[in-house]
Amino acid sequence: MTHEVLIQYLYVLAAVLFILSLKGMSEVKTARWGNWAGSAGMLVAIIATLLAYHVERYDLLIGAVIVGAIIGVPIALKLPMTAVPQRTAMSHAFGSLAVALVGTAKYYQLYPDIDTFTMAVLASEMILGYLTFTGSCIAFAKLQELISGKPLIYPGRNFVSILVLGIAVVLGLALVVDPSQSVLLPFMIGFALLFGFLLVMGIGGADMPTVIAILNSYAGLSAAALGFVLNNKLLIVAGTLDGSSGFILAMLMCKAMNRSFINVLFGGVGAPVAKAGTGAGEARTVVAYSPEDVAAILDGARLVMIVPGYGMAAAQAQHAVKELEDVLEARGITVKYAIHPVAGRMPGHMNVLLAEAQVSYDKLLEMDEANLLFPECEVAIVVGANDITNPAARTKPDSPLYGMPILDVEKARTVVFIKRSLAAGFAGVENELFYLPHTMMVFGDAKKVVTEIVNALKK
Ligand code: NDP
Repeated sequence: MTHEVLIQYLYVLAAVLFILSLKGMSEVKTARWGNWAGSAGMLVAIIATLLAYHVERYDLLIGAVIVGAIIGVPIALKLPMTAVPQRTAMSHAFGSLAVALVGTAKYYQLYPDIDTFTMAVLASEMILGYLTFTGSCIAFAKLQELISGKPLIYPGRNFVSILVLGIAVVLGLALVVDPSQSVLLPFMIGFALLFGFLLVMGIGGADMPTVIAILNSYAGLSAAALGFVLNNKLLIVAGTLDGSSGFILAMLMCKAMNRSFINVLFGGVGAPVAKAGTGAGEARTVVAYSPEDVAAILDGARLVMIVPGYGMAAAQAQHAVKELEDVLEARGITVKYAIHPVAGRMPGHMNVLLAEAQVSYDKLLEMDEANLLFPECEVAIVVGANDITNPAARTKPDSPLYGMPILDVEKARTVVFIKRSLAAGFAGVENELFYLPHTMMVFGDAKKVVTEIVNALKK
């Protein structure tokens, strides 16, 4: 087998592993396996690439790997689950910057004899790469709360954003017509960077996970375009897989929130809304119950539904929740989990946490299944969730949540909310359910409260 044929075989193997990885990760049961397949595919891809290109300085490569590992390994080991969205944003920022910089270097390397096709691909991958870089940096800053999560709203902002993108595209076209006009390149890059900044500044913090999925698809497309320039088939395959899976994920998230793509990107959802008209709750009071009160009503239940949300992740309460399940099931009480598609701060957030706590997959119900079962539940225990239960999504057309399908927890005979205060969730909308007569509010950190309920049940 010749050297060239071996490389092509390795590329095909890596591409197959990437596809199997996506297939594996599309289901909770096979997700871990999918992750391994993806990592193995990347290792094969790196080996094949090292064989394919003549490497002049291995010391530089090894040095870069060591520096990357020193930064990456502690982040991977220590990073809390709640910070995964911002870590993903940073990965996209670096990935897209790398792609854009390679494209820029390639332009200067080929200059001035660049054919029309290569220049068109280079221009589009640079625009996508650079706008993804600034967009991802802003998404990171919003998720890490380094800057306000509120969308930057000013009159004509969408017009300004589209104009900036339009200028970048026109400059790109001018370069395609005459690639020797290198003076235009820094301006095209500048406008692409500015567009990424403006686009994501105009989007609310609550939409950042969706934005990250969209930016993921841009970064993938830009890598695929670079694959054409470098004549690297694996980069084309991997970039296309990345681009299309990011796009599909963004579509699924929009569907789960009943929002359109355009609404997420340009709707400015999440800007402060006038207090007038929200009305509810200002003069109302709620009764605070104790973990022992909850244990008492759980004692007589037959079916209990646990509804996890972002607060369970923030409190790292998943192991305590699993213990609660064990204690209840030991008493012959059936326990199920209602999983909303956008519970938490990223897709699959709750599934990952509950799997970590060894909760069996067949106990996890999707939203539609769970909604059918709530009327039969004696108790629904909402652990650190809010927006995904909020009926404003059905009743208040002026609410940012309006139209989002929600879990009908109030149909259970008793609803227990475990959270630290009456504060609103991510979307900033007050939840009417806290004030219902069959709601029990138990205030405190989710892990602490659930542990106290378990202890009370054990007594
Ligand atoms: P929410 O943000 O609506 O509510 C979480 C609640 O948890 C808060 O009200 C908070 O109340 C409580 N909480 C926080 N920390 C703790 C703690 N340590 N112990 C107990 N409670 C705590 O989360 P949901 O999961 O209900 O909804 C997810 C939101 O994120 C939705 O708005 C969704 O659209 C959005 N989103 C999610 C995406 C995804 O992919 N998952 C993507 C895009 C958006 P308090 O401060 O009183 O404790």
